[in-house]
Amino acid sequence: MFVSVNKLKSFRPVLPIGMVTVATQVRTAGHEAEVLDLMWEEEDEEAVRAAVARLRPDVVGISIRNVDSQNMLEPVIYTPLAREVADWARAEHPGVTIVLGGPGFSTVPEDLMGFVRAEYGITGFAEESMVPFLVHLARGEEPEDVPGVIYRRPDGSYHRREPVFRIDYRKAARPDPDLYDRRYFTYSYETHDRSEKVPATIQTKKGCVLECVFCSNFLVDGTGVKFDEVSRVADEVERLRDEGLEVLEIVDGVFNLPLNYSLEILKEFVRRGIEMPWSCMINPGNVTPELVDLMVRTGCYYVEFGTDSACDRILRGLKKNFRQRQIVRSHRLFEQAGVRVEHCLFIGSPGDDRDSVRETFDVMEELVPSGAPDAHAYWTLGLRVCRGTALHTTAVAEGQLTGDERFIVPKYYISKGVIGDDALLDEIEERVLANDNWYLWWGLRTIGLRTRIRMAREESRRIEAELMTHLPRRGPAPAPLVATPRREDRP
Ligand code: SF4
Repeated sequence: MFVSVNKLKSFRPVLPIGMVTVATQVRTAGHEAEVLDLMWEEEDEEAVRAAVARLRPDVVGISIRNVDSQNMLEPVIYTPLAREVADWARAEHPGVTIVLGGPGFSTVPEDLMGFVRAEYGITGFAEESMVPFLVHLARGEEPEDVPGVIYRRPDGSYHRREPVFRIDYRKAARPDPDLYDRRYFTYSYETHDRSEKVPATIQTKKGCVLECVFCSNFLVDGTGVKFDEVSRVADEVERLRDEGLEVLEIVDGVFNLPLNYSLEILKEFVRRGIEMPWSCMINPGNVTPELVDLMVRTGCYYVEFGTDSACDRILRGLKKNFRQRQIVRSHRLFEQAGVRVEHCLFIGSPGDDRDSVRETFDVMEELVPSGAPDAHAYWTLGLRVCRGTALHTTAVAEGQLTGDERFIVPKYYISKGVIGDDALLDEIEERVLANDNWYLWWGLRTIGLRTRIRMAREESRRIEAELMTHLPRRGPAPAPLVATPRREDRP
């Protein structure tokens, strides 16, 4: 039995594509598998206990998509629900094996194992590892060689097998749409100016060719890119369309990186006459007139730009592959084509100060003026730090983190040039509030930014103190990753 603990409906609910893909794979391999999606349950405990009592599963796999709200100004931690799900399942069916997985889990596996008191976890591609893992369990063997597996040894340390970020798309099952809760497809969510349907999701590849300093994608999908076959992607979109789904989202980290592959996908859509409303995440550095033309012809109506900053110095420091002039040019190309553009931006990246923040705000005033019909800017104060990223190293070097912290409550980096400049924080608040198409935090009109930062930090410390009481002490030494033999070397 698989349980998704993601209950985040704002700004819109997201289909649990990872959990459903794994459940489909497990079924295809001949096991019984059911899913429970807590997104739609009002009484979580009742729902979990009832499902466990009915199914009596050998294994409960808990899928953790997000560890937290990813918003420093609004600290909400979602992992306590995973812990409760495990407790309810054990109470209802003693002896059940608890396994953790999902992208959120892959970013902080050891701490979450201890916090939830799970028997096992699987990092990396569970669609490749779950079936061999279950086979080992069924035979009564320890799954020590399964890629990505983690479990606690009797001495308190962890056994961790290196995840293998390879996927054989020809053998991989497509997520069975019948495993999605139907309420996703009748639900409408409100944006600032309209009501929209939850999109069906599809992924054309895993991973990313860039290595932005803050990005945790390499922990979830590994480095490099694993491409699906163009014809399989098009088949899947046709199937979704023929089933009557109205809106589609391509959930690749970035759709247009690398550019040639995205063009191939779009040309195949055109060849097959696929045209339905769809959206995706765009890298501003890789936008050409041909790309925009093909996107529009196949129905793309909305793109999110991973803009991050509009100051070249900051973009260089973040290791982005584009600069300000490309942001402007790409924005204009989509604007002229009638496609809605939403920019996602950080305030407080390494090196950010009064000059770079003002420069970014000035560029955004040009691209996203107040009242613009089809453009918005979403600002995030601070960057969430993941262990193992270059940003983590910077945060430690600057004394913002110790390097030894536990990430059960996420940590945020904010440049000293922003957080130490009260006048700049006041200016940020003023400029965000002056533009109806800019968003930073929903309560900014009633609680000032500096006050909110103080409140959020206190709240975060309180949550951390509470959660740490459930975290076992660290074992003797962090277990090194045990290398996984190459596929051809495996028995
Ligand atoms: S482009 Fe996006 S997905 Fe790729 S490394 Fe940068 S932040 Fe991560």
